[in-house]
Amino acid sequence: MIDPETARQQLADGSLRPYELDELVGHEAATTIRREHYEATLGVSLDTIGEYTLSAEQAQSNIENMVGAVQIPLGLAGPLTVDGEHAFGSYHLPLATTEGALVASVNRGCRLLEAGGGVTVRITDAKMTRAPVFRLPGVEAATDTIAWLLEHEATVIEAAEETTNHGEVLAIDPYVVGDNFFLRFAFDTKDAMGMNMVTVATRAACQLIEAETDAELVALSGNLCTDKKPAAINAVEGRGYTVTAEATLSDDILEEVLGVPATALAEVNTRKNLIGSAKAGSLGFNAQVANVVAAMFLATGQDEAQVVEGSNAITTVDVRDNGVYVSVTLASLELGTVGGGTKLGTQAEALDLLGVAGGGDPPGTNAKALAEIVASASLAGELSLLGALGSRHLAEAHERLGR
Ligand code: NAP
Repeated sequence: MIDPETARQQLADGSLRPYELDELVGHEAATTIRREHYEATLGVSLDTIGEYTLSAEQAQSNIENMVGAVQIPLGLAGPLTVDGEHAFGSYHLPLATTEGALVASVNRGCRLLEAGGGVTVRITDAKMTRAPVFRLPGVEAATDTIAWLLEHEATVIEAAEETTNHGEVLAIDPYVVGDNFFLRFAFDTKDAMGMNMVTVATRAACQLIEAETDAELVALSGNLCTDKKPAAINAVEGRGYTVTAEATLSDDILEEVLGVPATALAEVNTRKNLIGSAKAGSLGFNAQVANVVAAMFLATGQDEAQVVEGSNAITTVDVRDNGVYVSVTLASLELGTVGGGTKLGTQAEALDLLGVAGGGDPPGTNAKALAEIVASASLAGELSLLGALGSRHLAEAHERLGR
């Protein structure tokens, strides 16, 4: 440890790098000294960035070279009644965003769904994947490696699971492209989103595979995972939670809250979300699922880059007996209630507001409840936007609320 004044001097004379401060003066002091150093050398004021409530000590595993924090306004939408397997009851939804009209839009969707009796939601698949890529001499070696894996699957799983108290291997699927050999590992990560957990576990499995076969590891992530990139494999096979939220709404309720008939809502959905998305070659056949996923991810400390996968969603609207059946299915919703940014003060409070902070009892139930709530909120967002488009109120709402 050194005293702050010496640290300042060493930063100024270049004998100390800004990121080296933490070990010498602690994270809180390092954040302040570093900010002041950048303010002086760059000739800027970072006063507002320097005003924050989160603990720099706590954030040390979330950020390097910290100088402060940015703030994003947080609004609540709801209440929304959710009938899930893990989330059950009435929820106020935390949404962090700078997009005016978003909270109002989700709120209107909640009002509509409440009038119809709430949302039914179920998770149909859950897994987190990591897919290393290996080099092999050729395709014969690939079939030999697959045969070895089939014979020694239990040992490979044991090697992976030794690295974690919570993670469990669900599947190891091989993919061969010439002399490229991919293994897509799928894990149950309980309440963690799990990327760090599965990366460490997959590395242990790879070490065993390399020692026992001709496969040589090239990269622990071979992009067939697929993390933080638009990818059909996630939309088709799922990653994180595959979850469907649904509701039925009568003509009267649609007319009263949205001011649109069932046929208009269904037509907007078909022509926009289905045909428009198909023509665009989109992976997301929805109106604004990414808006709700992003705002809830920011509020609850999720990895915001995984909104890419969160947008892989299909919205359906079917006219049924004097009303509609509506649903949204998110194929790859990746989130957790432990690890990553979930422990930070404001994010933990937002999770607490939903009753899902920390590890669930049994493990996995809190993350599953959060997935059900995010999917239900997404349905509210879908209905509100489809209704606004159906009644041609979208531009007016943005003009009034978002500018
Ligand atoms: P993490 O903060 O690295 O680890 C979470 C750990 O919490 C688990 O490994 C587990 O330890 C422990 N834990 C305690 N109670 C638990 C419970 N009830 N359920 C599950 N685990 C429990 O978080 P992570 O979810 O694995 O990874 C998320 C982080 O990875 C984020 O910060 C994200 O930004 C980052 N990320 C990493 C990569 C990468 O390639 N490495 C890619 C994308 C994102 P045990 O394993 O010992 O049981």
